[in-house]
Amino acid sequence: MAESLAEYKILVVDDERSIREGVERVLSRMGCEVTTAQNGKEGLDILKREAVSIAILDLKMPGMDGMELHQRIREIDERIVVIIITGYATIETAINAMKQGAYDFIPKPFEPDHLKIVVNRAIEKIRLSREAEKLQAERERTLIDLDREKSRTRTIIESLPIGVVVTNTAGEVVLKNPAFMQSLELSSDPEAGALIDACVADEGFCSFVREISTGSRGIEGEVPTYELCVSENKYLLSRGRPVMNEKNECMGAVVTLSNITSLKMLDQLKSEFVAKVSHELRSPLSTIHEQLATVLKDMALEGAEVDHDLITRAKEKTNALISLISDLLDLSRIESGSLTENKKPVQVTELLSSIVDFLDSRATANGQSLFFQGGAEDIPEITADPMALESIFGNLVTNAINYTPEGGEITVSVETVDHQIKVTVSDTGFGIDEKHRAKIFERFYRVKDENTRHITGTGLGLPIVKGLVDSMGGKIELDSQPGKGSVFTVFLPLESGAGRGEAG
Ligand code: ADP
Repeated sequence: MAESLAEYKILVVDDERSIREGVERVLSRMGCEVTTAQNGKEGLDILKREAVSIAILDLKMPGMDGMELHQRIREIDERIVVIIITGYATIETAINAMKQGAYDFIPKPFEPDHLKIVVNRAIEKIRLSREAEKLQAERERTLIDLDREKSRTRTIIESLPIGVVVTNTAGEVVLKNPAFMQSLELSSDPEAGALIDACVADEGFCSFVREISTGSRGIEGEVPTYELCVSENKYLLSRGRPVMNEKNECMGAVVTLSNITSLKMLDQLKSEFVAKVSHELRSPLSTIHEQLATVLKDMALEGAEVDHDLITRAKEKTNALISLISDLLDLSRIESGSLTENKKPVQVTELLSSIVDFLDSRATANGQSLFFQGGAEDIPEITADPMALESIFGNLVTNAINYTPEGGEITVSVETVDHQIKVTVSDTGFGIDEKHRAKIFERFYRVKDENTRHITGTGLGLPIVKGLVDSMGGKIELDSQPGKGSVFTVFLPLESGAGRGEAG
């Protein structure tokens, strides 16, 4: 305590030496640093040189009296706490001094304890006001820091190389950066609070932003994406997430835009390349395949000595290559949209029945039973490309045959459900483990285990099926139990006429 009191320097101004010295003694013992002056002028000189916290002034002094000195002190530094020493006769004046800002007064004669109480009170007052000043300064600093932080974040958002837009739950734009404007080739800056629809013409993008803004999309799971074409040969990918507050309520959306034109171009080039190479390979391979078949036949007729197995294996290999190339060509056609181009009314029951008839011999050769359950209901015709439908169901039934052991059963059924045609292809085969289920729709993905190791395939069948189903506006589902079997279910929309012609 004594140490901290030394911070509060006290000036005592009194013309009476005994009081000056008495006060000095009492306060020094308390641990305060005390300096004295015998008149107002001397007191002012000290105040100009030294930092004084408390001034104890005698009211009645020759020359400059306590009142005047008090006024002058206030002009020098308002924070100095002034205590007036006064005789009984001048209490009224002391009260006046206090009205003008003096902190306290001590009537003469006074006891040391009284002096101590008054000075301690003054010190406490100074301490509190210093603390308040410190807090105020800290608050101001925090505000400045916050302001700086805000402008830094803003600068970062402004400089981001990808477009950013933030909307509130009403779908109004609350923040956007220059890259957003450039990406969408918007020239005029939208007004603050303008609806996203008023800024961007692409209706799909606007409803994408609105859905995220209201929290109806993207709160959980994968980040929702939307692709948009701004001008010829300029493609953007937007990704968005709802902005949630601490109470987990949706406050709006933050959506980014990145230019994916070069990726698109690369993808297109790749597809063109695959299409070209596949096309160039297919005819010579088919010719070799035919020639091998002829050689085999001729040699069998002439009874010549040939390595029959060798040529048969060569024929099988060419066959596998031809089917790989056909799959690659199918994929390119799906991407270019040409595999769903030739739409006409199709009777799905008939189409499925002919696929089942065609593949029945293969199932029988494998010792399996293949059933078709399609007679229970009249299925309406749909408008679709029959080649695409054949590819979808041909692939699913072929897979069921390939991945079902001898003695197994494969069933194809068709019905209408909620304005959709629902076709299921179920088998009692090997089944597909949970960890492979999503991946088998990716290109070239094949399950490699004891059951499937000896089965040849390309890993392209299911990607083709999914690409076609998607492009028809339908969906495919898989339910499977390892060791028991699999059920692939395809839903195709009835009314819109399957096939929206979009590349998958
Ligand atoms: P491929 O049959 O040429 O390998 P797919 O894309 O048609 O290529 O199938 C990918 C993988 O999915 C197959 O390798 C197989 O492991 C698995 N699969 C597909 N259909 C079935 C099914 N009906 N039963 C079990 N596994 C299947």
